[in-house]
Amino acid sequence: MTQEINEVLRLSEYVQAAKLKGKTVGFIPTMGALHEGHLAIVRQARQENNVTVVSIYVNERQFNHAEDFVKYPRNRERDVHLLQEEGVDVVYFPQTEQLFTPENLPVNFSLKGLEDVLEGAARPGHFKGVVEVVHALFLHVQPTKAYFGLKDFQQVTILRKMVKELNLPVDLVAVPTVRAENGLALSSRNQRLSECEQNEALVLIQTLSFLKQHYGKIPMKELLDQARTNIHQSPLKLDYLEIIDLETLISLAEVQPQALACVAAFCGEVRLIDNMLLIAQ
Ligand code: AMP
Repeated sequence: MTQEINEVLRLSEYVQAAKLKGKTVGFIPTMGALHEGHLAIVRQARQENNVTVVSIYVNERQFNHAEDFVKYPRNRERDVHLLQEEGVDVVYFPQTEQLFTPENLPVNFSLKGLEDVLEGAARPGHFKGVVEVVHALFLHVQPTKAYFGLKDFQQVTILRKMVKELNLPVDLVAVPTVRAENGLALSSRNQRLSECEQNEALVLIQTLSFLKQHYGKIPMKELLDQARTNIHQSPLKLDYLEIIDLETLISLAEVQPQALACVAAFCGEVRLIDNMLLIAQ
């Protein structure tokens, strides 16, 4: 039976009781408006743990624009129903005042600039908000393993850094991006796209596929120029398109054996991101 819990103390009691029985706890933090991408993570976590906890919390601290926060889709009943169907044990709805207490904030560690590039450059303060909420949620849930989607590659890199630097007792698991049949990366924000915009957004996956196909075969500058032109010629407004090192997230000027292509663009009012692993041939 799926339990809905809003209270940190009740959650702690539940998790501690499970751990005393030797059970492992898999945790998936989300902002709700669940889709198949979230559910794929839930299924993996269910397979790898005895108990599964999903949190739903739209974290204002990681939004740059009040309007984006207000317009973020919310549907508690539908989300709980979907998670019940997946056999999730606990759906946790944390309360803001219980999350951001002074003792829950991460201190004395540096992300070494990982938070300043790409999404961080485009959305100042975004990763500070992400790190704060995930750190607090880890303290609340005390998971054995925590699951994050590779669609937010930079987020995964930054959270790995946090776990390492602060020596947090949790294993981070990164889950591949789930896409619609047409290739569009699933995102809660896709709900805000018109049908026409959903088609226009396909230029992102087309461009990433182009990069994957030609990486290592065309000089880097030419490759990036062609890819950026492709998006400039579409109705989308390009924010950035870069080929980066998988660990440092630094933009590459030369081909190396493996890299990540990552893109962010506005489709109408909605900002979309996507990425793809590139392997030089
Ligand atoms: P969100 O609710 O957008 O904060 O996402 C919650 C988790 O689901 C994050 O770890 C995301 O990276 C992950 N996620 C979102 N979309 C996808 C997707 N299409 N495929 C896999 N994971 C995803």
